[in-house]
This record gives sequence, structure tokens and C-alpha cells, in this order.
Amino acid sequence: MSNRILGLHHITAIAGNAQRNFDFYTRVLGVRLVKKTVNFDDPGTYHFYYGNEVGAPGTILTFFPWEGIQSGYAGTGTASEIGYSVPGGSLGFWKDRFDQYKVTQGPTAERFGELYLPFQDPDGLKLALTESKTPDTRKAWTTNDVKEESATKGFHSITLTLKSIKGTVAVLTDIFGYKLLEQEGNRYRFVTDAVENAAIVDIIEDPEGKIGQVAGGTNHHVAFRVQDDKVLMEFREKIEKRGFNITPKIDRNYFYSLYFREPGGVLFEIATDNPGFATDESVAELGTNLRLPAQYESMRKQIEKQLPVLH
Ligand code: ZN
Repeated sequence: MSNRILGLHHITAIAGNAQRNFDFYTRVLGVRLVKKTVNFDDPGTYHFYYGNEVGAPGTILTFFPWEGIQSGYAGTGTASEIGYSVPGGSLGFWKDRFDQYKVTQGPTAERFGELYLPFQDPDGLKLALTESKTPDTRKAWTTNDVKEESATKGFHSITLTLKSIKGTVAVLTDIFGYKLLEQEGNRYRFVTDAVENAAIVDIIEDPEGKIGQVAGGTNHHVAFRVQDDKVLMEFREKIEKRGFNITPKIDRNYFYSLYFREPGGVLFEIATDNPGFATDESVAELGTNLRLPAQYESMRKQIEKQLPVLH
């Protein structure tokens, strides 16, 4: 039994058009829509969850698609790049695929001894595919076009861009159990040994950097993973003791959550493994039907009418 932070749980970003977001992630990137639900705080908009077959923690990228939202900017105080892990030797496949679909990308480069290919989704959200130098044995979700030898396995890392790293480093190391692994220029790589994958947080220190604006095409928050709600509440106590404002435990249907803003300005969440995504539909059916939390089920007809139709 682990009472530690187990790397990344999920990352949540903001999109514009829902269909365009769905097409890009399921068809071009080849990840699975594991849950189609609504924003619990704004049930007139979708909340999409993409991941591997079961939506395992560490593979889940989620979106609030708000039609017509203005574009944000991934400057300081934001999570500025989402890193996916891909198999060794697959970046050539991805480069060609992104060319084919006219995805903004590249060039392929190296950091910390790993090849990576940066790219952007249709809303301008910054992502990268990395051929990880540590073994990644996670089983990828595959499609007709994106087979096992190329498919994303889940997260490699998240990058935070901050004016000053000091306060954030204290949260990562003193509370979350991460350690500084390496530094390249102004990029610092922190890693936890509590898990094998989705274990990296990179921090770029950019004191002169323009302050980011969280809106379309940027990340809304980064969620770290704990085993269950008992550990969640232990972390709540530790974080509150450090003087942070932290929310009470929130039921997100598929996990329990806490939120607090870390000193660098990024919204952090801690989320549990339990109960997972197969609570209201089977693994085979994940993502196929609109799932609503109990409080909105009686409003299903109006909600469905308001949501854009997906093809
Ligand atoms: Zn979240």
C-alpha cells in the first residue's frame, strides 16, 4: 500500500470546437475517448476524457470544449507542454502522420538524452511525443492507423513554465516526494520513484517570461495521483499545514479530488485511483454514451439538446 504521490493522474485543458477536438485526439493521435460527460460546474458543456483502454491514471488527458472561446497563452504560471511517451523509433511515423494531417509540429530535438517531437493540437495546445529512455511497458490503446509500435502509452511528463521555481520546487520535493534529476539550461527535471511512468515534472524558469493566460488551447490544471481517498486526505492535511488554500474533497464521479494553486501559479489537483472510469459503463463501452452524474440525470433531455452533436 502506498501513501505517496504516484506521478500524474490526469491533465485538463481547454478546447474550442468539440468535434474538432474529438477528431484530433481519437483519429489523428489515436487515443481512446474513455468518458463523454459534462463539465460538472457547467453542464451545458462537454467534458471529454481521453486515455488508454481503461483510462488508467497517468494516461488521461481531459478537455472542456467551449465553442468560440478565445485563445490563451502558455506563458509563465502555466503548465506549458504535455508530454506523451511513445515507443523507441516511432517519431518518424509521427512526423509523417502529422504532415499528412497538417499538424503544426517539430522539429524533432533532444533533451535529457531523449528524442522528442513537439506538436500542437488544433487549438494550439502544446504537446510533445518523447521516446523515453526508461522502459515503458504500459499497454497502448491502438487503432487501425496507429498500431502498437507507434501508439502513445500515456504521459511522459508535464512541463511547467514559471517566473521563479523556488516555491513550486518545495511543493514537489517536500510534499509530493519528487527529486531533482537533471538540469539543462533553465529546464529542471523532477522525477518521483514511486511509479515507473508518468513520473516526470519539468520546470522551466523564465523570470522575464510573459505571464500566461489560461483560455483556449492551454492547460487548465494538472492532477497528481494517489491511491485512494484516505491518502488524499492525508495530503490535504499536509498541504493545508503549509498554509495553502485547498478545497474540500470533491466527488468527480470517477475519482475524488482536491485542488490548490501552487506558488508558481499553476492549479494543481490531487486525484484518486478509485473508483475509475468503468463505474457507469463497461470497459468495452467506455466513451460511447453521454454519462451524467446523478445530480444532472433528471435534466438529461435539456442537456443533450444543448450539447453539440458529435459525429
Ligand atoms: Zn482535474
